[in-house]
Amino acid sequence: MDKELFDTWEHKKKRQELVNLLREEGITSESVLKVLGKIQRHLFIPKELEEVAYENQALPIGEFQTISQPFIVALMTQALELSGKERVLEIGTGSGYQTAILAELSKEVFTIEIRESLLEKSKKILEFLGYKNIHFKLGDGTKGWEEFAPYDRIIVTASAPEIPIPLWEQLKEDGIMVIPIGSREYQNLYKIIKKLDKKLVENLGGVVFVPLIGEYGWKE
Ligand code: SAM
Repeated sequence: MDKELFDTWEHKKKRQELVNLLREEGITSESVLKVLGKIQRHLFIPKELEEVAYENQALPIGEFQTISQPFIVALMTQALELSGKERVLEIGTGSGYQTAILAELSKEVFTIEIRESLLEKSKKILEFLGYKNIHFKLGDGTKGWEEFAPYDRIIVTASAPEIPIPLWEQLKEDGIMVIPIGSREYQNLYKIIKKLDKKLVENLGGVVFVPLIGEYGWKE
């Protein structure tokens, strides 16, 4: 199967329009915009939603979970300040779309998903797309992935009541964590820099994410 076969002129055009919109909405990182213009989001969603793949909206991916809105994906990725050298831990693989973006912009990605069917699907598409720098794990991401810690960056793509302690411990000094924190219904997206074990916190704005469930997250 040739992955380019699935990328029609129409998809490319809509992707470019999406990139223009993200720029207008305030995304300034050229490397992030370039990658969002490259990754074929329509390959990560159910076939019947292909028509709306490049709309700036979250979409269902099964199991009552979602692929995040492109603006939020871009905002979170931009906040990570990736240079290409980082080892990134991602909690909540979901569709694998954000994982692909991280794999393009960093050295290695360690991604954890708690729902097996989603992990299997995302793994299949990411392997099909040829990514060799992604490590997959099925399990409770609130506990992190001790074996490969510490990480330069940690991104949590589900909402937490607070920072899961193991994730904070597995973040390097000077590392950056991006995480939505709040209630189950509404959260703020935070960029947190670890400096001398202290937290330098920036609020990136209000968001609505599906819950992060698990030992250091919400109880199901
Ligand atoms: N970034 C994803 C994408 O691009 O499609 C969207 C992720 S979706 C908003 C959140 C994901 O977090 C869901 O797939 C959900 O199953 C997963 N999740 C929830 N709690 C988790 C946990 N404790 N560990 C790992 N994954 C978890």
